[in-house]
Amino acid sequence: MDNSKTVDKNVPQPKTGVMDIATYVPSKSKVPADVTLHKLSSNESPIGPSPHAVAAVAESISKMQDYPDGSSTQLRNAIADVQGLNAENIICGNGSDEILGLLATTFLANGDEAIFTEHGFLVYRIATLAAGATPVVVKEDDCKADVDAILAAITPKTRLVFLANPNNPTGTYLPIEDIRRLHAGLPGNVVLVIDAAYAEYVRRNDYESGIEMVSGNSNVIMTRTFSKIYGLAALRIGWAYGPRPMIDALNRVRGPFNVNAAAIAAGTAAIQDKVHLEHSIAHNDEWLLKVTTALEALGLKVTPSVGNFVLVHFSETAGKTAAEADAYLTKRGFVLRAVTGYGFPNALRMSIGSEEANLGTLAALKKFLS
Ligand SMILES: *Cc1c(COP(=O)(O)O)cnc(C)c1O
Repeated sequence: MDNSKTVDKNVPQPKTGVMDIATYVPSKSKVPADVTLHKLSSNESPIGPSPHAVAAVAESISKMQDYPDGSSTQLRNAIADVQGLNAENIICGNGSDEILGLLATTFLANGDEAIFTEHGFLVYRIATLAAGATPVVVKEDDCKADVDAILAAITPKTRLVFLANPNNPTGTYLPIEDIRRLHAGLPGNVVLVIDAAYAEYVRRNDYESGIEMVSGNSNVIMTRTFSKIYGLAALRIGWAYGPRPMIDALNRVRGPFNVNAAAIAAGTAAIQDKVHLEHSIAHNDEWLLKVTTALEALGLKVTPSVGNFVLVHFSETAGKTAAEADAYLTKRGFVLRAVTGYGFPNALRMSIGSEEANLGTLAALKKFLS
């Protein structure tokens, strides 16, 4: 973009791309004072964290005066142990958002292109523009990433492809064969980022989080998070598994103490608590199905989801818009996510919450639609 005519050369100006970023708007959580808030807008865990993680945080804060271990060794070792990986191939971050940003900073320069899909996670666009690179947005096929469209968008300038699998906010996923086909069509110098933030929730035989793709290739990296099923969003913990040269490059760019001590302690305890993980998965299995079925029974179109949320479409013909539903629900304490910024002006994303929150939302929606 050429801003040369309007730019005042006597005051600091952000580099090209920065002012093209639309500030990320987090979900709202303001409801009337006399109603109970049920926040179903950020895909947070209704179960919360493992009690072992809570205890580990309490212990860690007694040493607040000390810097954390800058390489998150304990956490990387715990992840490696549980997932059967080599800790040298893992990097931890202040949320996986930080790692997505590091990938852009590390692999994209001015004029380079990064590809992502039209309803892809908003952070990809922010990270790409912040790196001074050009976002290339590719059409989806019925709310699903389209491998052929992604491959068709590759140019000599392409350096990175961001793919959320499953994707947020659609909840759709690509089977591992499609990911293999996508990878097979990429030039060797293009990084394929598989963002598997919701991997733990997926119950499909043809799904893989990306670990094997990373292990067999030099240009694939998988990111994961403790913010969703592990219920630790406030502490900001993410990690990535990638080829040694890529992890080495990311380690040079990241802040020297990018993951705090409470996060390291919590993540280490959380990933070892398999009972808690199974409990959280079981809750989602049960309620993802119940919520989807109930929404469809109300006549709403729901994009089939394998995550801990559903994308609910309001039809124009019924004369009830997503914005009206949002206002109606919010007044009653049920806060869902408006997804206009994701290219869905007439849909809402509903996270799978507690039994009370799910049933309350469904009952309110039924009234709204009647
Ligand atoms: C929630 C989410 C993340 C996780 O972000 P954190 O920074 O780890 O909290 C990453 N990718 C997608 C697609 C998400 O929805």
